[in-house]
Amino acid sequence: MKKKLQNMDVQDKKVIVRFDYNVPLQNGKILDDSKIKSSLETIDYLTNQNCKIIILSHFGKPKKETDKDKLTLKPIYEHLKSLIKNNITFIDNPLDINLPNIVEQMNPGDILLLENTRFLDLKDKLESNNDAQVASFWASLADVFVLDAFASSHRDHASTVGISKYIPSCLGLSIQKEIETLSNLINNPVHPFTVIMGGAKIEDKLDLIEALLPKCDYLLLAGGIANSFLKTLKFDIGSSLATNNKKTMEKLKNIMLNNREKLMLPLDAIVSNTYDEEYVKYRKINEIDINEIICDIGVKTIEKYKIAIMNSNTVFLNGTMGLYEDYRFSNGTKEIFDLLKQVDTVVVGGGDSVSAVNNLGYANSFTYLSTGGGATLEFLAKGHLVAIDNIAEDVQIEVLDV
Ligand code: ADP
Ligand code: MG
Repeated sequence: MKKKLQNMDVQDKKVIVRFDYNVPLQNGKILDDSKIKSSLETIDYLTNQNCKIIILSHFGKPKKETDKDKLTLKPIYEHLKSLIKNNITFIDNPLDINLPNIVEQMNPGDILLLENTRFLDLKDKLESNNDAQVASFWASLADVFVLDAFASSHRDHASTVGISKYIPSCLGLSIQKEIETLSNLINNPVHPFTVIMGGAKIEDKLDLIEALLPKCDYLLLAGGIANSFLKTLKFDIGSSLATNNKKTMEKLKNIMLNNREKLMLPLDAIVSNTYDEEYVKYRKINEIDINEIICDIGVKTIEKYKIAIMNSNTVFLNGTMGLYEDYRFSNGTKEIFDLLKQVDTVVVGGGDSVSAVNNLGYANSFTYLSTGGGATLEFLAKGHLVAIDNIAEDVQIEVLDV
């Protein structure tokens, strides 16, 4: 088991923490602060241990100097100040040469928030290429490194992987919860275990489907994912989103051959078409016209999926049932969310899926919302992530009574 913050001696120490503060921001306003809130438990723990706390995070993907204005962590700094009582200082250069002195001057419980680590990518991609000098400079500021950024843990970057090579490192409180929930989901789900996969592109989800199929009892499909399976089965899906890749279709064919009794595909759809904005029609799945686009699942599909869902003790959902951003095509996603309220354990993963849960009013309806986006999908597919791999195992010396 990886070293946990609770098992690390951090009392009175300098601690550098990697959080993921890459939150949705519009016109300087934070649309969803759940990632910031999920960092508070670790901050609180370190504060109670009298630590000096140095925080690192990336924000977006700056490509040019002028991106700095919109990708600064300042709005996150302002928000953090409103959430906690600690004395927080913002440092606008993550490699400021005065940092060692500034850290020396800090009082226990004080926080430094360093500017967007990816600003360093503007020169030689120092953060994203895991530059050794950058990582060792950050490590030199502290006694201990805490990784608490699950959503960034699939990245081999200086702030996620690099620092752990130089100083003792451990997992923060929020990342531990995320790892435990997702590991339980794939290793010990209470059966029947149903996986619901929707969303856009099959290529993004194929590894995950292949990893989850042996573990689940049913796999219910929707969205562009289902379209790709239907296309492989030679259904005419009109102008709907689906793969054109021969290799992908070959894989889908094999998946269908080997998992006949687990797979469920839509029976009907709500469609739009390519030339008329207002066009919305109900269609059976074998009656889709050449110009029509599948945008949501229909009532017969919902009735069919209901049987599997009601029979399940555990459900994992990734990807929406349709184009939920348009209210005309959000019904399938809402109906499925309503049914999921009655299931014991429901885990939702994926950026859009968690947004759909929040925006459609189901924020408190499920067991766990995994905010990891791509990291969640990769963790479920592969069972590990590079930044977590780099945290040392916790060696517990057992004292035997002889
Ligand atoms: P996540 O981010 O949770 O992994 P995805 O990005 O795969 O999920 O899926 C969500 C996206 O899929 C949404 O933008 C939604 O509009 C789109 N989508 C869902 N159904 C369809 C469909 N039938 N055709 C095209 N896009 C779809
Ligand atoms: Mg998405």
